[in-house]
Amino acid sequence: MSINADIRPRVIALANQKGGVGKTTTAINLSTALAAIGEEVLVVDLDPQGNASTGLGIDAEDRELSTYDLLRDGASLKDISIPTAVPRLSVAPSTLDLLGLETEVSHVEDRNFRLKKAIAAHLGREPDYSYIMIDCPPSLNLLTLNALAAADSVIVPLQTEFFALEGLSQLLQTLEQVRASINNRLTVQGIVMTMYDKRNNLSEQVVSDVRETLGELVYETIIPRNVRISEAPSFGKPVLLYDINCAGSQAYLKLASELIQREKALQRSPN
Ligand code: ADP
Ligand code: MG
Repeated sequence: MSINADIRPRVIALANQKGGVGKTTTAINLSTALAAIGEEVLVVDLDPQGNASTGLGIDAEDRELSTYDLLRDGASLKDISIPTAVPRLSVAPSTLDLLGLETEVSHVEDRNFRLKKAIAAHLGREPDYSYIMIDCPPSLNLLTLNALAAADSVIVPLQTEFFALEGLSQLLQTLEQVRASINNRLTVQGIVMTMYDKRNNLSEQVVSDVRETLGELVYETIIPRNVRISEAPSFGKPVLLYDINCAGSQAYLKLASELIQREKALQRSPN
């Protein structure tokens, strides 16, 4: 089967086994920024906590079908996806049922590839997503493996704090194993520093250490610690709908254009 690379959505997983580093916040707001600049975007919520779904305004009682039904019973992406208040942005929501999935499918042979298959089955159907962004749980479990098997690339959020790099080598090792076993196409789209606090003298030092260690993998854009970003989810809104002018919204718009630049550079490169 040959798939035209031009019409495939780019599938990007937000992953870091550390919790509280900004995966969900970045999934919500980077996806919103991509939609705002004209991309057709689907957020796939693979965290049982469902914070990406809630933050995009989808209440728990409105999640009739979820990523659980997709991964467990083969429901389609179209069946489970719900439009959000943001034009061109939909979400495949999650529910707490996901917590039981790992044991329920532990003997199923294709258990790591169910999301990949669902995305492949969506090709050629409406809506024609240009980006599918997957919000991963804070662990390297079956759910994260489904994301990494389906993804073209990974975005790793790192919180701008003293221990930012702690745990990163374990994540990079996991990505290496994933490449060797279930997805040899997987690349790192980029590493994004989050919650940068300009009043904290340490922040600048952390950023320069991280850049020294990881080089060009680190996006130029840094997401500041911004109270509007943390307030927005309680209104069920991405920060761009809550306060378009705040520093957080502007940073996520900038990150979206940087992401697109990197994608364009990839398309130009011969392999
Ligand atoms: P993860 O998904 O990696 O566990 P979250 O995105 O849920 O992390 O972020 C953890 C907490 O930090 C949340 O309460 C979120 O609102 C807050 N947060 C994330 N990014 C920012 C930011 N740039 N400024 C302020 N608060 C933030
Ligand atoms: Mg999260």
